[in-house]
Amino acid sequence: MSIASAKVKEFLNSSPRMLIDGEWVSAKSGQTFDTHNPATGEVLASVPLGASEDVDLAVAAARRAFDAGGWVAMRPNTREKIIWRIAELMDEYAADLGELESLDNGKSVGIATVADVRFAAECFRYYAGWPTKLTGTTNNPSMLLADPSQEFHAYTRREPVGVCAQIVPWNFPLLMAAWKIAPALATGNTVVLKPAEQTPLSALMLGEILLEAGVPAGVVNIVTGEGETGAALSSHDDVDKVAFTGSTEVGKLIVEAARGNLKKVSLELGGKSPNIVFADADIAAAVAGTIMGFTFNSGQACESGTRVYVHADIYDEFTSALAAAVGTLKVGPGNDPESAITPLVSQEQLDRVTGYLEAGKADGARVLVGGERVGDSGYYVQATVFVDATPDMSIVREEIFGPVAVAMKFTDEDEVIASANDSDYGLAAGIWTTNLSRAHRVAARLKAGQVWVNTFHAFDAGLPFGGYRQSGWGRELGAESIELYTQIKAVNIAL
Ligand code: ADP
Repeated sequence: MSIASAKVKEFLNSSPRMLIDGEWVSAKSGQTFDTHNPATGEVLASVPLGASEDVDLAVAAARRAFDAGGWVAMRPNTREKIIWRIAELMDEYAADLGELESLDNGKSVGIATVADVRFAAECFRYYAGWPTKLTGTTNNPSMLLADPSQEFHAYTRREPVGVCAQIVPWNFPLLMAAWKIAPALATGNTVVLKPAEQTPLSALMLGEILLEAGVPAGVVNIVTGEGETGAALSSHDDVDKVAFTGSTEVGKLIVEAARGNLKKVSLELGGKSPNIVFADADIAAAVAGTIMGFTFNSGQACESGTRVYVHADIYDEFTSALAAAVGTLKVGPGNDPESAITPLVSQEQLDRVTGYLEAGKADGARVLVGGERVGDSGYYVQATVFVDATPDMSIVREEIFGPVAVAMKFTDEDEVIASANDSDYGLAAGIWTTNLSRAHRVAARLKAGQVWVNTFHAFDAGLPFGGYRQSGWGRELGAESIELYTQIKAVNIAL
């Protein structure tokens, strides 16, 4: 495989290891697992298979770093400078991080560099601004039972939660790590991060950057491993909080695992987002936005707009334009700038997506465009749009996590809102309309954590992201993530 970046070559040749207490270490057992290049199926690197004994070491290191108090007690403006420096280093190494992400995940190098890495850096930059702005309140208690002449001085302190386990998925490996590490650091917590087994590499390169930026030993630990490693972390009694992004199924296991010590839990889970195209939409923009909505990252995004509701008056025009445009999307490897659809992350994911393609056909839906695997090496599948589906079909109800959408016809606003809300999930939704009143009216009635109007996948570090219903608990990004990583202490003093 050809690798452009000298830094990436050196990183891969160095047998990447885990980060515990500021040291690069192997698993205690010496065991490793392989991570693959999805474009070819070749082994890219072997990384340590962290087990519960390694998790114990990482949690103990995070606990020591937290209890020692150096990180939380550090002057806020010093902590800001370190977090800002992480962002600067990510920008400096953007091409290396982007190439590594593409090699490990399969996504386009160009998109990984300008979207994933830049947004991850932006996230650190946004949270770098927070340490100097964390405040409590002063309160004026009435204290009914106290002597009326007794005065009190009461206030609240916003304090970190403690040791945070952060378990992230393979679809945006570096970005999901940044969404979690940045607010945790800004608020003075310590971290044990577990990247996904399919894509452990960019998190380890981020670990190098964190050390270079001056994050003290033990403040961020990175343990590589599989689901069992995550389970050891989420059930660990010395972990104060677990933040998870991944499947709804595993999210429920995390909730169970957290019961033992009632650690705080935040979850960003699956989705099956509606994307509604009204008759008054700018059709060309809606076609382009709809395609972006379900094919970005080859559809491997929890917020993907995969249920496309199109008004009857424009249904034929819209779906034929959609089919024509989707048919031109080039399927190819992440290192080809022409590739619009890059490989899925793994054989398992390919099997899952092709399984849904077959289920859709067997259930009687019609393939408007796409519908097949591409080639027989690498994990490629065509961008696919189904039509003539019914609401009970698995392709309409379940998260496919590939570039697959279903287009359905509607005739009135109430009807489409009911259809859009008919889901176990509630992560995101799209609306395409030129009618301002309709945009606000429908946005208010959709049961989703974020609604995009005349756009899709429109993220910002300052805007909260998370789900209604089984799409999760809590919101990441923005000021909301500060809430996730802090707790309030009330202090009341009799003067
Ligand atoms: P996907 O189905 O998209 O692969 P998962 O929810 O299985 O997503 O995985 C997301 C992350 O959760 C990965 O880092 C994975 O290793 C981890 N994980 C898997 N199973 C468990 C578990 N039982 N407990 C904690 N983490 C887990």
